[in-house]
Amino acid sequence: MKPPEVDRVAASRAAVAARRARAAVKRAVTERRLSAVSVLDTALSSTESVEATMRVRDLLMSIPGLGPVRVDRVMERLGIASSKRLSGLGVHQQQRLREFLLKRAPQVERAAQSRLVVLAGPTAVGKGTVSTYIRENYPDVLLSVSATTRAPRPGEVDGVSYYFIDDAEFDRMIDEGEFLEWAVVHNKSRYGTPRGPIDAALASGRSVLLEIDIQGARLVKAAMPEATLVFLLPPTWEELVRRLIGRGTETLEEQERRLTTARVELAAQDEFDHRVVNRDVQAAAAEVVELMQIQKAIDLRGKE
Ligand code: 5GP
Repeated sequence: MKPPEVDRVAASRAAVAARRARAAVKRAVTERRLSAVSVLDTALSSTESVEATMRVRDLLMSIPGLGPVRVDRVMERLGIASSKRLSGLGVHQQQRLREFLLKRAPQVERAAQSRLVVLAGPTAVGKGTVSTYIRENYPDVLLSVSATTRAPRPGEVDGVSYYFIDDAEFDRMIDEGEFLEWAVVHNKSRYGTPRGPIDAALASGRSVLLEIDIQGARLVKAAMPEATLVFLLPPTWEELVRRLIGRGTETLEEQERRLTTARVELAAQDEFDHRVVNRDVQAAAAEVVELMQIQKAIDLRGKE
């Protein structure tokens, strides 16, 4: 049966008003005037509230730091279907979501303050491939170019892969305070992150990605606590072994040394703010970029 015209007009007006009210709540969460957990609590305490009719997915998407890739993953982990509204959650789903919001939100907010992301992880996990993919596909992101005292490998370009410099120049840069961090890697060459281009990029609103080793990541965090540390993980230990052993041209002793190093490196993952599994380069890159685009998303949403 068709409702009378006057009822239909009233219903559509009410729907528009509800949508606007939900948008205002989402904006308040994005701008951190309202916590996501308080939105959930309001929804659960009153089925008549605007909050009750909000989709879980929309609430999660409005939290600074959570983009579509992470939101989908979180919802899957919480066992909540993507069309679910807050009022439609079962008791266990409510508990799991509440726990997630309480535990996760502060970490996400910390990430939201920084557009400087450090990507580290064990040798052979694919850090270089992921960061090269980001450089080639996300031109807004500045991929920091390190200075190193090691010799260029075939195909490497000075100023793109690294700044290839000698020991004297490296010493000068240390003395002049030009490095954000520097370290001796694999007991051999020195590698350092030039500070100038990073400061300039951040000041002009660009996101910056550093692809450095684990000790470098620790030093950056000490110098700039607002930096977000991302640990890139292999899909499985077996996969990492396969990548480390590679073509099997190394001696057994060398293979054993690499595996021991990988175990030590993996143990550092708990020090990091986020972990990203490198199953697929494109997806891993998207996840890392999502972490950097938070601030930009907030700026854009604020202008809506
Ligand atoms: P490769 O010589 O194979 O290019 O790099 C060796 C290691 O040095 C990699 O783990 C890489 O992440 C790390 N690395 C590259 N640049 C820097 C840097 O500026 N600082 C630090 N601490 N490590 C770096």
